[in-house]
This record gives sequence, structure tokens and C-alpha cells, in this order.
Amino acid sequence: PVVTRFAPSPTGFLHIGGARTALFNWLYARRFGGAMLLRIEDTDRERSTESAIAAILDGLSWLGLDWDGDVVYQFARAERHREVVETLLATGGAYRCYATPEELAEMREAARREGRPARYDGRWRDRDPSEAPAGAKPAIRLRAPQEGETVIEDAVQGRVVWQNKDLDDLVLLRSDGNPTYMLAVVVDDHDMGVTQVIRGDDHLTNAARQAQIYQALGWGVPRMAHVPLIHGPDGAKLSKRHGALGVDAYRELGYLPAALRNYLVRLGWSHGDQEMFSQDEMIAAFDLGQIGRSPARFDFAKLENLNGHYMRQSDDESLVEAIGRLLPTLGPARGLGPELTPALRGMLLRSMPGLKERAKTLVELLDSAYYLYAPSPLALDAKADSILDAAARARLGAVRALLAETAEWNAAALEAAIRAHAERTGLKLGQIAQPLRAAVTGRGTSPGLFEVMEILGRETSLARIDAQAR
Ligand code: GLU
Repeated sequence: PVVTRFAPSPTGFLHIGGARTALFNWLYARRFGGAMLLRIEDTDRERSTESAIAAILDGLSWLGLDWDGDVVYQFARAERHREVVETLLATGGAYRCYATPEELAEMREAARREGRPARYDGRWRDRDPSEAPAGAKPAIRLRAPQEGETVIEDAVQGRVVWQNKDLDDLVLLRSDGNPTYMLAVVVDDHDMGVTQVIRGDDHLTNAARQAQIYQALGWGVPRMAHVPLIHGPDGAKLSKRHGALGVDAYRELGYLPAALRNYLVRLGWSHGDQEMFSQDEMIAAFDLGQIGRSPARFDFAKLENLNGHYMRQSDDESLVEAIGRLLPTLGPARGLGPELTPALRGMLLRSMPGLKERAKTLVELLDSAYYLYAPSPLALDAKADSILDAAARARLGAVRALLAETAEWNAAALEAAIRAHAERTGLKLGQIAQPLRAAVTGRGTSPGLFEVMEILGRETSLARIDAQAR
């Protein structure tokens, strides 16, 4: 059976590249009826934080990327990692290295002078450990092959070959007894039964070193797929400026998880020229063969358009719920509490068909509904302000009296009253409707004016008209 894993280091938020790696692992596992495991690589004790772990788990859950089984924490497995190193020492697959920091620095310095990559020169590889300085604590190094090649048949990169003479004897256990990342990944992937590794191609060189460790242990190497990293629209490596934000930032910017997932799956993977994928379609179509070899470019405008599309397809109820979930962060700046009041919920729900046609994010949606929850006096935007000149304000005065007398406060009755008034006075409908819209919504544009007035109700509508009429 297929077993994949997502193995983030909890040293920061779940960024967009990590989310895509998780998605690819998840899709591959779901496609082939396997499992996706989650391993938190928290061996860097200085940089790993609880809040980063929480952000990763939250981000995955929000994106709908569920993992199988319990979360595996790498640091908790250090004893097992040391035990594996003991077996390697026993078989001669590893050896104790007593090189001092000064000696290692000299090797690096020599490499720098000669303009070649630094490598450990193997000075303790065949030396008698009895020559070790008394009391010195050794690092444990892999006795790596010095001849031949190490080959990875990568599902994305193709056949990648390293000359073993270029790979030195890497450290498995530091002199303080801590396992290295390189060792931990191998032992964990093996113990977790991982059959397919899918990760960023910044790990491609690690794959060669890891393959050597597998071989020394007599373990099978999992299949590998190294996905090109995401680049910015200008082709440079993705940075914050480009949208390399945490998944939580995308949530707060008002993107729907289904839209972000759809956007991410197309970042580096394609299926003909199809752009929109339901979850089931994604799972049915996903495979490693159609992952491109060149980096995908991040395109914010495309993500926005996709999100707008998903919002228009969403049912109104779920959009209102999604806005409600954003209120703890978005509410205060807009004079709203952390939860939707029943009244606002009702008004949002009734306004949603008109509102969702225009907005590209949930934040835009909430802001375009500002007239529903704005405190009085209602602030006018520039367009509304310019519409409300003296003549327009005078027209509002006449309309105000008429509306106050309207027996029923609904869109049809309001429209009939205004149309009749326009005919009587010889004004164009727009000459009345525009100032009305400006007064009632504070904006130059809004969903259908009469629906808006119906939803706002008689009292609020008339009060806002009063505030602008002369
Ligand atoms: N922990 C590594 C990272 O976050 C990933 C290791 C792996 O996937 O093998 O980059």
C-alpha cells in the first residue's frame, strides 16, 4: 500500500510551499487508497516552537488535509535513532570520529582556498579508536561508499546520479549524542513504512545522502519525488513580497480553503488545461508524472479570481458562516464584535446573492456589506459624496416624505413608489435612485437598491436619508 508523509519543521508558519507539499502527499495517498502520515520534525530545539506546531496542524485542518494516525514527533524518537546508530557501529557501517572543531574548520578553510565544496577527509575512517584523545566524545559518521555512484530514480527529476567520491562521510550522531536530521529522516521514514517521499527539490541532495544511509542499514529506499520550489511572478524564489505567507494569512485575507487548495494543486501540476477541480476530481486525476520540472510561478491575481469563482458557487449560508469565523480578527477594526449578531446574520444572508457577485475574497464581501452594519452617521465614500450635491439632496427631501408614507416596506413597493414619483416629476429614475443609494449605503455602487432598502428596514433607511436630505 502507498504511504506518504508530510514532514514539516515547526520553525515558522505553514507557508504556501509547505501547504502544497502537504496537498500533493495527501492527493497521492488518497488517489491510491493509501495513508498520509504527519511527522513534525522538531529536532532543532532552539527553533521549534509550540505555536508553529499549532499553526501547522490548524493550517492543514483548515485546508481539509487530514492525516492518518497519530502525529509523529521526531524529537521523541531520538532514543530509537541512537539505537540504529549502535547497530551501524556494530556492523562497521559507521565509525567514531574524533576530529576536533579546529580540524574541521581547517578542512573547510582548505576547501574554500581551493574553490571546492567542503568535505570531511575521512581521517578517522580507518584509524584505530585507541588513538583517540582521552575523554574525547566522538561524532558517529557513516562509512559511505567511496567508489561508484548513488542513483535516485526520481518521479519528477528523472534519474539523478551522484559520484560517491563527491559525497563525504556524513555525521549521524553528533558528539553531544544528538542524532542528525539526515539520520532521523531515514529512520523515521523507514519505521513509519513510508513508500513514497514527495517534498521540495531543495532536498534533492539530501536524498543521495539518505539513500546511502538506507543502503548501509540494508533497508529499501522509498520512491522519491522532488517537486520544484514555487517562484514569484518575476521568476525569483518566492519571498514574502510575492505572497509567501502562512496559510493562516490566506485565511485572514478571506480565501476559501477549497479555492486555495484548487489554486495550489495547479502550482506545478497540471491535468491537460483543466483549471477547476472539485476535491474528487483532483484525487482522481492526481499523479506524479504531470508535475513539471520547472518552478511554478505564484500568481496572486489568479488566486483571487479562483476565489471569486468559488465564492459565487458557494451557498449563501456557508459564506455567512465563513465571514462569522473571521470576525474575531476582522470585526474590531470594523466596529463589529467577534461574533455575528442574529440581526446582522439575517441581513447578510438576505444580501448575499447580490454581494457575492462582486467580491473576490471574504474580506471584500464583508466590506462591501458595510452599509448593513455601519454605525451612524454613515460615512460616505468619495463617489457617494460627489453624487450628493445640493440638487440631489433636495430631491432626497421630496422622496423622503413619499417613502415614509409607503404602507409596505418591501423592494417591489419601494420601486413602484419611486418610479411613480419619477414619472410625476419628469426626473429620470437614476436621478433619484443614485442619491438614494448614496444616502442609504454611503457608496456609489451596491447591490440592487430596493432590495438593500428592504433589508435595512424602514427605520434605518429613513434615518440615513434624513441625514443627507435638505
Ligand atoms: N523537515 C523538512 C522541511 O521542512 C522536510 C524533510 C523531508 O520532507 O524529508 O523542509
